[in-house]
Amino acid sequence: MLDTIMSEPEHPQVAVITGGARGIGAATATLFAENGAYVVVADVLDDPGAKLAESIGGRYIHCDVSKEADVESAINLALAWKGNLDIMLNNAGISGSEGSITSLDMDQLNHLLSINLNGTIHGIKHAARAMIKSHTKGGSIICTSSPAAIIGGLGSHAYTISKAAMDGLMRSSACELGAHLIRVNCISPHGVPSEMLVNAFKRFRNVDVTPEEVSEHIGKRASLLHGKCATTEDVAYAALFLASDESGFITAHNLLVDGGFTKANSCMS
Ligand code: NAD
Repeated sequence: MLDTIMSEPEHPQVAVITGGARGIGAATATLFAENGAYVVVADVLDDPGAKLAESIGGRYIHCDVSKEADVESAINLALAWKGNLDIMLNNAGISGSEGSITSLDMDQLNHLLSINLNGTIHGIKHAARAMIKSHTKGGSIICTSSPAAIIGGLGSHAYTISKAAMDGLMRSSACELGAHLIRVNCISPHGVPSEMLVNAFKRFRNVDVTPEEVSEHIGKRASLLHGKCATTEDVAYAALFLASDESGFITAHNLLVDGGFTKANSCMS
């Protein structure tokens, strides 16, 4: 079934994925392309981004999401390439290291917000414009949030603020854009041993760890599912569902992809 989920020969689905060069974004770009979508990979990592785009028949564009003009250019590339935009995945993000609330480094905090939050604002703004303009079928805007939007103590203060604000923005945008049949949702992964997470582990615990060690640690502590740790593909399938017409009545929702971590945390040892 899934290989037909996004295949409408008369209306190929066009997607822009920020932070698409590696990790969750790259897995999602690959899965979307396998399911018939045309994907614009937008990132600051030019080499891996361009290679990935080539391998999936997509396009790459250098895009720093903290710069509104870059995000607008990524969306314009999709429009120039295929004439419309159906799916926007605001996925680019970084983890924070701005320190204790008592000695918060405001420059670092604002830097993180400029990417995780402003980047998402830019993405929703320009994707919605393009979707409204290019056709009447609506569209799907997805933002990669985090359980940190819901519970405390998972990420730095700036990271937590950025994801909680993203959730609020998702809901307020969904209210406004529903009139245009544009759905806006979040996915909230937990425990994908991506470069971002492994580097955050190293920084916060001040130890050198491998992705395998991070997986083992998270699998034991953060999943109800027999020590299983999340993969980038687990998250990509959730994004595929929210991107597809099969989720057509779901909007203003934050879909946890966390192995039960956020809502069943008290039964974990
Ligand atoms: P990752 O580091 O592998 O991927 C992040 C991507 O964002 C990279 O390709 C990076 O180059 C890109 N990026 C960073 N700054 C950018 C900028 N200014 N402009 C454009 N692109 C930029 O990490 P990941 O885990 O795949 O993270 C993807 C998203 O998932 C992030 O928003 C992150 O907060 C979120 N997330 C991840 C986890 C997890 O367990 N890994 C959990 C919750 C949320």
